[in-house]
Amino acid sequence: MPGDNCSVVGCGTCRKTKAIGIWKLPAPRNDAYRKWRQDWLNVLKKYRVTDKSFQRQIDNDKVFTCQKHFAESDIEITVSEKMTKKRPKFGAIPTLNMPQKSFEKVPTTPRPARPVVKEHPAVDVSTVKRVCHKSFTEFCRRAGSLKSIKEWDICAKEDRMVFKKSAEPSLCLPQVELVVDDSLGFTIKVYGWLLPDDHILYTKYLRSMRNITLSDLVKELAESFVVCPGTEQRELHSNIVHHVIPMSVDPFDCSDNELENFSFKEYWRSRKCQLLVESDENCQCCKEQSYSMQRSSQAKQSRMSEPAHLYAPVSKTVPDRLKLTNKRLRSNIENVVDYLL
Ligand SMILES: [Zn+2]
Ligand SMILES: [Zn+2]
Repeated sequence: MPGDNCSVVGCGTCRKTKAIGIWKLPAPRNDAYRKWRQDWLNVLKKYRVTDKSFQRQIDNDKVFTCQKHFAESDIEITVSEKMTKKRPKFGAIPTLNMPQKSFEKVPTTPRPARPVVKEHPAVDVSTVKRVCHKSFTEFCRRAGSLKSIKEWDICAKEDRMVFKKSAEPSLCLPQVELVVDDSLGFTIKVYGWLLPDDHILYTKYLRSMRNITLSDLVKELAESFVVCPGTEQRELHSNIVHHVIPMSVDPFDCSDNELENFSFKEYWRSRKCQLLVESDENCQCCKEQSYSMQRSSQAKQSRMSEPAHLYAPVSKTVPDRLKLTNKRLRSNIENVVDYLL
């Protein structure tokens, strides 16, 4: 299909070229992603004229760029049982195999020198970042003496520091686990599950303790985020995963004889669940999943309550619908008989 090809002029990669990854512009899900999307698009615009058809692609979010234009180190590869998935790392923009600029042949005349305009320097908080933690040793020292982290279980290892916070003592997994490695990168787990890479907590601080202090991060985790309650559907589906947290049961501490053998706490989540959300509601992905499943089950129900087509194959039609068809036929015949008599 036209428009589904790589947007770099002269590059022949199309979406059907299986082995070569081809990606849309990143979705503008938050400020960081909006900036990434714009940076990426700006690179493409630098090498081609934004004519009507390209503008249409932009408007319809049909701008694709293939992996040939990304450095190998900018591509993230995840291998699962079923497939190998490639995607650009957060912030990566196309740099390789770009065309010669067609409108660059005219030598550009240097701009006349302009007097320096003195303006109030715009202080952008996001660019003037103070370094919150400088090194892993310094981080460990400060973490040890921090008061706000008292309710967390701290475990220091040679190459990482692990902070765990439990919600209920009977659950076998901590509700939130924060791991800071010796390069000051951090990883968050929620009941044992890793937060998705595009989570706001990662993108906001670029996943590094250099950009946020431990006390602020801990405070944010405790005060601004709750665990996503998941989807409304509680059944297996290709887009839904079952998040089970085992509970520990003390066999000697049970008053009644009915000992629960398989105690657990559970969530049903959309595969793209954000795990931690800023409101009490479920995350956008779980919400959308609930909604789409609700709609399809309603559609199915309304189909089920209607009689099948007269010539519907019997082997492939549910008995209830055949019964309805039968009933309708019989009543039709009765009407005809009534009429004739
Ligand atoms: Zn390409
Ligand atoms: Zn969710």
